[in-house]
Amino acid sequence: MANENLVVHQFGCLGDNYGYLVHDPGTGITIAIDTPEVGPIMKALDEKGWTLTHIFNTHHHFDHAGGNLELKEKTGCMIYGPSDERVEIPGRDHGVGGGAQITLGDGAIVADVIDVGGHTLGHIAYWFTEADKAFVGDALFTLGCGRMFEGTPDQMWAGLERLRNLPDSTKIYCAHEYTEGNLKFALSVEPGNSDLLARSGDILALRKAGQPTVPTTIGEEKRTNPFFRPESKNLQETIGKAGASVVDIFAETRRLKDSF
Ligand SMILES: [Zn+2]
Repeated sequence: MANENLVVHQFGCLGDNYGYLVHDPGTGITIAIDTPEVGPIMKALDEKGWTLTHIFNTHHHFDHAGGNLELKEKTGCMIYGPSDERVEIPGRDHGVGGGAQITLGDGAIVADVIDVGGHTLGHIAYWFTEADKAFVGDALFTLGCGRMFEGTPDQMWAGLERLRNLPDSTKIYCAHEYTEGNLKFALSVEPGNSDLLARSGDILALRKAGQPTVPTTIGEEKRTNPFFRPESKNLQETIGKAGASVVDIFAETRRLKDSF
């Protein structure tokens, strides 16, 4: 039976990265989603009394896979990562791509792998379907998305659309706290979005109190994230792309954000 009671422990790493441990109380399986920084991950394991059994990497960047080898050496954990990266994932035992399904502990944990390439070519997300949670690395952020370092607009939009098609209730765990900057940009390209205006107060209050704005949900992002909203007339008009294709609108929004 698949698990609805996965515990997620979230903590800061490297300034604005988030580290995540996913733990199944029934089997003791504990997964680090990416390995931004060994010290805080070991500290979190220690505080929780959990033993690291797996690492799930989303992509090859150093602030995501840089702690792999040291953590593997310390714990003997098994590493899953994208099969299709330009740069090899250190210590990877299993390569997985979009459409794959990872099953651990006799089905106690089931994760669907989603291809979200674009930020890097092989970037993947892990969707724990029964737990209604997805770990998206640098593909999607609260009110933003990752920079398109390796892929094309077509590829990156296809990945974002796969995420957008997840159930609205899906909790989205992004790898960075970039929301305040993303909010300023979002307001500049879609100033007429009343949902975004309403959300901005909540976000600023959370940040002022030192609280994370992650996780978010697919539903909230569909209402407020400009990278999920190429169909918005207000966005299209503001960026001068009225009636253009969704890929062109996405590409222009991404280009504008790069120099914002
Ligand atoms: Zn990255």
